[in-house]
Amino acid sequence: MNSPLPSLSTWQPNAVTPTESDAAVQLRPVVRPELLMPAGDLEKLHTALLFGGDAVYVGGQEYSLRAYARNFDLADLAQGVNFAHSMGKKVYVAVNILAHNRHLQELPPYLEKLGELDVDGLIVSDPGVIKLARQYVPHIPLTVSTQANVTNYASAEIFKEMGARRIVLARELALDEIADIKAQVGVEIEVFIHGAMCAAYSGRCLLSYYMTGRSANLGLCAHSCRYRYALQEEKRPGQYFPIEEDEHGTYILNSRDLCLLDYIPQLIEAGVDAFKVEGRMKSPLYTAVTARVYRQAIDKWLSERSAYSLEDLHAWHLELQGIATRPYTTGFIDGPADELQDTAKMPLKGPHFEFCGMVKGYDHQGSRIEVEQRANFGPGEDLEIMIPPGDIRKLALTRLYDHEGNPLDRARHARQRVWIPSAEPVIPNSILRRVVRSRGHAE
Ligand code: SF4
Repeated sequence: MNSPLPSLSTWQPNAVTPTESDAAVQLRPVVRPELLMPAGDLEKLHTALLFGGDAVYVGGQEYSLRAYARNFDLADLAQGVNFAHSMGKKVYVAVNILAHNRHLQELPPYLEKLGELDVDGLIVSDPGVIKLARQYVPHIPLTVSTQANVTNYASAEIFKEMGARRIVLARELALDEIADIKAQVGVEIEVFIHGAMCAAYSGRCLLSYYMTGRSANLGLCAHSCRYRYALQEEKRPGQYFPIEEDEHGTYILNSRDLCLLDYIPQLIEAGVDAFKVEGRMKSPLYTAVTARVYRQAIDKWLSERSAYSLEDLHAWHLELQGIATRPYTTGFIDGPADELQDTAKMPLKGPHFEFCGMVKGYDHQGSRIEVEQRANFGPGEDLEIMIPPGDIRKLALTRLYDHEGNPLDRARHARQRVWIPSAEPVIPNSILRRVVRSRGHAE
């Protein structure tokens, strides 16, 4: 998938069920899949849910595979759960390390604390952790993580027998395999639809541990697969021969990011129960854009599929391109993948978005928006505000003031609070972004 707007030339909006009308579809039971978003901290949890996520997954401080994603402590988690439940939404907590004996001692009290916080589910992969979760918090539903690499119905069956309510399938499966597992096993199925991919079966990789001592299976991956590699002849120590596929080098292990936007209808029709977006370490802008796009795609297909159009897809793809840092791939969804790697160092096309600030409030008396700065910005730039759940407005920024009301030429300081005049009110948790019209190669 080399195009920044993948598959659009061949995509058929009615390819799934060509003869069915919207009315007929409403009579047929179709699972409304849960849109499950990443939340690396409380701010991203709010963003994910306000922009359309049905649920978020978070890491606890001890047992999550994203040890660096500013994981939630128990106080944050309590706040996050209250916020989600106030919206009728859910919070799942990742406890998905491959545990060694030394990790097990503290696990039961931690699980019991999660039970007291009323979290909606645990994401697990290690059978030992599953055993302890069944024993100490049997009331909390279990999701088997993609780290368990479930690639067939028999594996799904065994995890179901162990007590799993839901299974996140391995990313390495094709659409027909996903549909087949769903049809054969009476268990909820979750599928990754967007985000970074491993060059190994998810998380089952020793590269990072070998090179840096940081184990991917304990949440410490250093992304060693994305380092630059060279060739060295054994009798010429210190002499490195570049491996060059093009002028930018080689990226033999450098996976593109997954994007299954084009397959949302087919995945819904296959009965998939939950769609997962990767990226707990990404910015709130990434969270907002992905939540908004996939929310709209899912809802449109379910509510008025006959109006699901190529124009919709173009608009959604442009949004997703705006947050891309490397080219997208559809992975294994069509069978064996041949375009997984970013070997050609593809240029990223189309406008790119930069996260400039988070709206904290609106002063009705002064007709001004209060923004917390996240990147240097100022008047005259191409700025937009994303307003939950889905509006995007141009912002004509001509004047800017510091928190005491003094004029500023730019918002330069990290997390600086500034005022932007605006006759139109904007709600908190809206996102200020800059549109950059041209850019170079993927990083
Ligand atoms: S080093 Fe790369 S392949 Fe290995 S776990 Fe990390 S991201 Fe995955």
